[in-house]
Amino acid sequence: MDVVQPIRGEKGATPIGLDADSHGTEHRAIVDTHRHPIGPKLAAKMAERGFYDPKQELPQTNTQDLIGYREFYDLEYAMPKAREEGVTLCLASNGGEVEWFARDLLKVSTGDALKILNDEYLEIRDRYPGEFALMANAHALEENCRPIVEEMLRKGGAKAIAVASSYGDGSDRAFLDSPKAEWLWEFAAANDIVVHIHPPMLSVGHEVLMQYRLNEAVGRPFDSTVNGARMIASGLFDRHPKLQVLIVHMGGELASVLGRLEFNWRLNYKGIRNPPAGKPYKNDRPPSDYFKTNILVDCMGFNPIGLRAAVEMCGVDRVVFGSDYGPIPYGIKEHVQIVEDVLPSPAERELVFWKTSNRVLRLGLVDTDLVTPAFHQSR
Ligand SMILES: [Zn+2]
Repeated sequence: MDVVQPIRGEKGATPIGLDADSHGTEHRAIVDTHRHPIGPKLAAKMAERGFYDPKQELPQTNTQDLIGYREFYDLEYAMPKAREEGVTLCLASNGGEVEWFARDLLKVSTGDALKILNDEYLEIRDRYPGEFALMANAHALEENCRPIVEEMLRKGGAKAIAVASSYGDGSDRAFLDSPKAEWLWEFAAANDIVVHIHPPMLSVGHEVLMQYRLNEAVGRPFDSTVNGARMIASGLFDRHPKLQVLIVHMGGELASVLGRLEFNWRLNYKGIRNPPAGKPYKNDRPPSDYFKTNILVDCMGFNPIGLRAAVEMCGVDRVVFGSDYGPIPYGIKEHVQIVEDVLPSPAERELVFWKTSNRVLRLGLVDTDLVTPAFHQSR
């Protein structure tokens, strides 16, 4: 099997390319759907705001307990490492952090923050031709960011819309079943655009999770879990049956609570004389059904058990490769190895490594399937 690709920077080449190994025995494309690059401008802004001290060695932590690695702050340093570990194309997104970028880092309106983020993304894409495709970051609960999203899709060539799984804090925290997000689902479904859903930096319950890095290990996947359950239970996918969403980190903990969602949905408030308003499930189909039709997940989780569960939950054609590399300073090779260990079939591995993301995000990568790698290399 072969993958046709434009040469990086070649005139007339499609902007999204693969840089497969032309000398190795294995000819493999890997699309990393889960990357959060920042460029020099945002890195400088983070230093200015005291999130890290550029004069000191990395990694560092700060008063907010955010831990930053060189792989995150220094893209020039991270890119060769990601290439060496096998990534051929990355999707850039920071949808989970739009609220944080606007309020805490840039101290500007959501719209202005999105513009700053998008400008930096376009610069990153141009600096590494053929290595980045972009997502249009958005604030799911603020419809007035729609023109910026549309421009990023139309002019910036973005391949998905990236949002957070929740916004706000404490009892005011809102998830994506909020009526305020309805514009997003209508827009995404009508335009056949995947919505990438990532937990925010401070997850639901963070106030009791700031030890042992549990906000990262437990809290963020929990945010994805609560949000996924609420999206299903609110009947959102019944109202928008064509909608496709990609939940990161293997779908949080959804695989392990799927049976509980099923029995709660089945029992619902049946037999109760006056069900409390707003509390009963509204979805028509069993919760597990929506993973086969509307929800995709990525493989980021460093765990073969989790990947097996994700494949069983969604089907092998609804799991995509994602590494979270940058904020997480290692692991691409481990993720690749886990995919290979869990999926012995080369055809199934290819679905996870690039074919499914290519299809659902319309990346325009071409698989000729005409020549074997061995034949190709001997020419
Ligand atoms: Zn991430």
